[in-house]
Amino acid sequence: DDITQDYGQEDKVLVSIRIRPTDELHAWDTNGKDLKLNPAFGKAPQEFHFDEILTGSENKPVYNAVARSHVCAAMDGFNAVVFAYGQTASGKTFTLSGDEAQPGIIPRAMKDVFGYIKRTPTREYLLRCSYLEIYNETINDLLAPPHMSAAQPVQIHGNGANILLSPLREEVVTCLKGVHEVLARGEGNRRTASTDWNERSSRSHSVFRVVIESRERGTDGRQTPSGRTTPGFRPPTPGGARLQAIGGRSVQTSVLSLIDLAGSEKATSDKERTREGKYINTSLLTLGSVIGTLAENSSRGRADHVPFRNSKLTRMLQPSLSGDARISVICTMNPSKDAIAESTSTLLFAQRIK
Ligand code: ADP
Ligand code: MG
Repeated sequence: DDITQDYGQEDKVLVSIRIRPTDELHAWDTNGKDLKLNPAFGKAPQEFHFDEILTGSENKPVYNAVARSHVCAAMDGFNAVVFAYGQTASGKTFTLSGDEAQPGIIPRAMKDVFGYIKRTPTREYLLRCSYLEIYNETINDLLAPPHMSAAQPVQIHGNGANILLSPLREEVVTCLKGVHEVLARGEGNRRTASTDWNERSSRSHSVFRVVIESRERGTDGRQTPSGRTTPGFRPPTPGGARLQAIGGRSVQTSVLSLIDLAGSEKATSDKERTREGKYINTSLLTLGSVIGTLAENSSRGRADHVPFRNSKLTRMLQPSLSGDARISVICTMNPSKDAIAESTSTLLFAQRIK
């Protein structure tokens, strides 16, 4: 499978809807890329239109439609971010991580990354993964032992395009197995750190990040196998020039971020309405205005202020969202009657960032 695609002509932000299967009646009617509430279930406020509307339980077509070209762009040196947004149990984790029978975007992306490296013998690559969680506006390093990340949360240093996260563990990976080990370690730490795993995972954002560095292979006999740590590679200049000249050969750096967002549902208890709910709301609202403004600036050639600084998530991602970065937002929804209010709010979010 060749992942080389023409991604140059697309919009900066790809917004898609994924409707999970349900045993209940569907409250929504879809027709191609249009979607509206079935009149039997209430007065339809409006008809929605998106880049892609995906249904069913197959993760492969979802990956191909809304993430593959972003992964390809990341391999070609562009920063790329894929988000899953939606209420709890609407299918965010199924879409990004999936399961053994239906691997999600993260394992498929990494498989394509290694396939791409194999097919590009003229370049050598270095891949470094990190895995973080943002909970109540605190960033935890999921690759660090829980007691350490609790004692020393990840700090965001710098601003604008020059953001540095520290302390942050980055694991060099050279094969899919290595990636799976990193993911499993992160999941394990996340479970250990939380007293209520379900609660915690629906209230926090999880960010899987791969820094991709590459350069032309030398013709001087100092060739290194793909993916191995190579002397001469330096930490990336985040968001800055993607090319650095080292020993006459320029190093290309990009970051691929795959993000499982906190549940978008409205707070239901007093506790949530206070601290946690407030944080989640603020960061998802900020994400909406950041992506919405970026999309508008890009499509209308404007330079409106982008409120990156209003949340940790957007501050941390600023270098990965700015400039010629490619963004995909997959909005997951449950089509059943009980979820109409939340689904409507998800669709309004999706429409706003388009
Ligand atoms: P979220 O991460 O948004 O809270 P999950 O991804 O955990 O939701 O999905 C909730 C449940 O529904 C899981 O058991 C998951 O396997 C199942 N599910 C979600 N989306 C789909 C889908 N498209 N096809 C089949 N099962 C799905
Ligand atoms: Mg989940």
